Amino acid sequence: KSMVVYASRLPGPNSPGAVMVLHDITEIRRLERLRQDFVANVSHELKTPLANIKSSVEVLLDGAAEDPVTRSMFLSEIDIQAERLNALVADLLSLARIESGTAILEFEAVAVEDAVHACLDRHRTRAEVKGLSLSGVALGGCPPTLAVWADEEALAQILDNLVDNAIKYTPRAGRVTVRWEATAEQVSVEVDDTGIGIPERDVPRVFERFYRVDKARSREMGGTGLGLAIVKHMAQTMNGSVRVAASEVNKGTTFRVCLPRAADGK
Ligand code: ADP
Repeated sequence: KSMVVYASRLPGPNSPGAVMVLHDITEIRRLERLRQDFVANVSHELKTPLANIKSSVEVLLDGAAEDPVTRSMFLSEIDIQAERLNALVADLLSLARIESGTAILEFEAVAVEDAVHACLDRHRTRAEVKGLSLSGVALGGCPPTLAVWADEEALAQILDNLVDNAIKYTPRAGRVTVRWEATAEQVSVEVDDTGIGIPERDVPRVFERFYRVDKARSREMGGTGLGLAIVKHMAQTMNGSVRVAASEVNKGTTFRVCLPRAADGK
């Protein structure tokens, strides 16, 4: 433990003694270190795409712009890197809003089936391009009106992040399935894939900001390393939770989100 000791004599010429205050600053130090790590990580994540953009621009200014093929190659690279910066800033803002409590959540009964199918529709094209099958299944005779008590947009963001990862980390011709079931109190939604899996030692860390099992692979796929941190915060803010329910390397991964059940919607 780190302690700070403040000691002072009580004022006055005939002061009877002194006051001593002991502060445990272990926690303060830990938080300060986390903050420093975060700033270092953000700076690094911003620097890489910026350096790429700068070097592409330099090559273009040096004369590469004259050849149309080379020009379009470097312009595409600039576009990709700018998109990366965009995704990073959007994720940082989401995280900041949700952490500071300034994200305004509007709780209502959100129909699970509708939310899942809307999410699957948003990802259908990407899955098809990769030859992945994408489906949603209600388990155990859930009523079609099954609903969670949640903010519709935050729920969509949670599902989008998990399905996006499932597609990203599943090789061609695999399968991504969203399943849901309910108890009287709770709804659990699982996003299951037949992808690369997460090694056991990394499972406890994947919800940390900027933690990636394979940095190069994640970046190549356009990942920011913040998606799961956002998912975790959002689930917790909506009185729910998220965890890796199962994962096996080269077999696949199942993420499970639990949220409070609402009185069934219309
Ligand atoms: P990223 O933007 O890198 O995908 P996330 O926070 O969404 O960041 O995920 C953190 C890390 O967890 C990823 O880099 C990846 O290593 C791992 N991961 C997340 N989802 C999956 C999945 N469905 N299958 C395998 N690995 C995954």
